Amino acid sequence: MSKEATVLDKLKRPLRDLRISVTDKCNFRCSYCMPAEIFGPDYPFLQRNELLSFEELERLSTIFVQSLGVKKIRITGGEPLMRKDLPLLIEKLSEIPGLDDIAMTTNGSLLPKHAQALKEAGLKRVSISLDSLKDEVFGKINGRGVTVQTVLDGIDAASKAGLSVKINMVVKRGMNEDEVIPMAKFFKEKGHILRFIEYMDVGNTNNWKMDEVYSKKQIIEAIHQVMPLEAIDPNYEGEVATRFRYQGEKAEIGVISSVTDAFCQSCNRARLSADGKLYTCLFSSFGHDLRTPTRSALSDMELASVIKDIWYNRKDRYSEERGQTKKSKSKVEMSRIGG
Ligand code: SAM
Ligand code: SF4
Ligand code: SF4
Repeated sequence: MSKEATVLDKLKRPLRDLRISVTDKCNFRCSYCMPAEIFGPDYPFLQRNELLSFEELERLSTIFVQSLGVKKIRITGGEPLMRKDLPLLIEKLSEIPGLDDIAMTTNGSLLPKHAQALKEAGLKRVSISLDSLKDEVFGKINGRGVTVQTVLDGIDAASKAGLSVKINMVVKRGMNEDEVIPMAKFFKEKGHILRFIEYMDVGNTNNWKMDEVYSKKQIIEAIHQVMPLEAIDPNYEGEVATRFRYQGEKAEIGVISSVTDAFCQSCNRARLSADGKLYTCLFSSFGHDLRTPTRSALSDMELASVIKDIWYNRKDRYSEERGQTKKSKSKVEMSRIGG
């Protein structure tokens, strides 16, 4: 990347990490993300022609890498593996010069079918979401009665295919906080990094309450009492997870504390929804339409300048301001932009 490729926003933050949602559909109905009573059979999911095509995604991604300095792309959803022929997109993205890393966040259920093809297409890493080791609890959380073994099979398939695997666990008080230690033990033994995610007030449908947040401090203290931990340095600037290692061992965990310990100051991420809207914050009310200019006669340079302008004017720091204002605002749904 040339130096000119960096555009700083109003808080002097560069753009390095682009998250692309390839579909708003999902085969799960997690209670904290797509509650079944709202995302029912009549929910107006996006139509085929509203989605950015793989060619459009490749073009936009190339511009993000070459003109804004993006280094890392994460494919997400909804459930990204619901998008047909996804390895074809990965293959196109992996050919973009200057892009260092391609990762994916998935619920894991379809990995046994697709892991090998994804790896061959150039995918390097997957984060697989799993919130419980008990079928009864997990079936309720995912809203579809999917078993824990289904996701464990996905985890094994990804490892076997040679993908680097991390596990994401959303911790919500009253839902699964008693599984923090069993999950930590299980994945320490299995040799996968487990990352705990504080339950967040994304979207408008999960009826979020502050007292349902099980905090980073509580998570760390609970594990530390049983398996002593020590803090370790971030892998790179802007890493969202705070890292800890089990004392005297190599195995580590991470905690993503968007609620109780905000990290907006180093936030270098943008999110592109499946219908081509660019969100400069996970909690944005508004997405900048990139689909219309992408489908117009604009040249790559003109399109790059539209995107640079959006980033240049960014001032988001929602998590740092959370609680300072009583006014609630309408926010984009997590299933639209994928976390
Ligand atoms: N379907 C894929 C999955 O579940 O991994 C990718 C999309 S999902 C929206 C991305 C991540 O966001 C998942 O790890 C999920 O657990 C997390 N997530 C969803 N809603 C959340 C919330 N309200 N608070 C914290 N994390 C949330
Ligand atoms: Fe689907 Fe992922 Fe949301 Fe669960 S968290 S409903 S798997 S998009
Ligand atoms: Fe970035 Fe917005 Fe999250 Fe702050 S609240 S870290 S600006 S996405």
